[in-house]
Amino acid sequence: MVRVRFAPSPTGFLHIGGSRTAVFNWVFAKANNGVFILRIEDTDAARSQEQYLDEIKSSLTWLGMDWQEEYFQSQRIDLYKEYANKLLAKGLAYEQDSNKEGVTGKAIIYKVPKERKIKIKDLIYGDIEIDTAEIKDQVLIKSDGMPAYNFACVVDDHLMNISHIIRGDDHISNTPKQILLYEAFGFPIPYFAHLPLILGKAGGRLSKRTGATAISEFKAMGILPDALFNYLLLLSWSPGENIELVDRFAAIKKFKLESVNKTAATFDMDKLLWLNSQYLKNADADKLVDLIMPVISQKGYNPQNLNKEYVKKVVKLFQARMNTLNDFPDWADFFFVDEISFDEPARNKLKNRDCREDFKNLLERFSKLEDFSPQILEKDFRDYLLEKNLQSRDLIHPLRAALTGKTIGPGLFEVVSLLGKEKVSQRLRRAIEI
Ligand code: GLU
Repeated sequence: MVRVRFAPSPTGFLHIGGSRTAVFNWVFAKANNGVFILRIEDTDAARSQEQYLDEIKSSLTWLGMDWQEEYFQSQRIDLYKEYANKLLAKGLAYEQDSNKEGVTGKAIIYKVPKERKIKIKDLIYGDIEIDTAEIKDQVLIKSDGMPAYNFACVVDDHLMNISHIIRGDDHISNTPKQILLYEAFGFPIPYFAHLPLILGKAGGRLSKRTGATAISEFKAMGILPDALFNYLLLLSWSPGENIELVDRFAAIKKFKLESVNKTAATFDMDKLLWLNSQYLKNADADKLVDLIMPVISQKGYNPQNLNKEYVKKVVKLFQARMNTLNDFPDWADFFFVDEISFDEPARNKLKNRDCREDFKNLLERFSKLEDFSPQILEKDFRDYLLEKNLQSRDLIHPLRAALTGKTIGPGLFEVVSLLGKEKVSQRLRRAIEI
């Protein structure tokens, strides 16, 4: 039975590294009909915070991960004591008075056997051998009564029946210490799989600037959870055949720990944005509307303009060109505001050529159309150009500027059609006035 755990400490937000670890554990559990456990390592009371715990959980949920069991180390303190006492009783550990002033408790310390070689059989890295001469005696229980990380980790991984320990390779140096403890207790040793480091694009560790960003910030940037999930998978794994778009279901079918790369992964924001654009393009419009509604409802638009069916039509016009959800209100605001504002290039387009006469004529022609579909609108517009012996660029750009306040956007006649007769007339009238 595959049982894996994600074991964050609630001393900071969940970011790229932690969520990648969670994703690999989750996918591996699903791929093997196993159990994914959330274990909160909150024994550092001074640094653990409720707000981090909430953020970690809501980010996991946002990314679409569920867990079947949940534990808090802070509720298991007696258990760690009990297990440390077992090693004391076996003569494998000793007590030591605290050298800290005012602390009266005794620490429990594990005697590391000398001249032993510890072999880690890592499913990703292969075999790693460490000489115990390099390992100092290990604190199990600190003099304040709290367990040390390595000790609590071993006791929990054993009691929780963890079959595979999948975590970042920053823990490789802890693994031999943990294996020694498994041996001291006589516990079976689980499989280990250490995930390679994630570097920033310019090399070096991830920094705030290069992606050490809280998952909640990616959400705020308008990244889709499925796109981020896909991106996290690609940070040291690939489904092969140069495939990059791999959703959770495909990943569950194909994932093998043995096919995780050992070489460091690189966090690349541009690639994440590209993936996001692919997910936006392929997204079901109804689902996209549900994600976009909260984004646009904060923009102060007239609520009458936010009818769901209408928003859906606008979304369909833009979804193939968006990189983030936040692009949508930036680009499509002219569909939702009552009075548009003109950007600089649009103002220039309107100044370059006096289109007042043409706008007046188009206004009249458009208002007579019974069918306001893009095809009919375009035909009518082309007929007008022919009549007046005009080039399409003479009028197409000013018309877009007058109706949208911008010089770029989706197909003009789709825009005109969706804006509708009333808004188009109003805006042409206003453009003529100014
Ligand atoms: N709390 C540890 C961390 O966040 C867990 C490490 C482990 O998975 O064993 O790094």
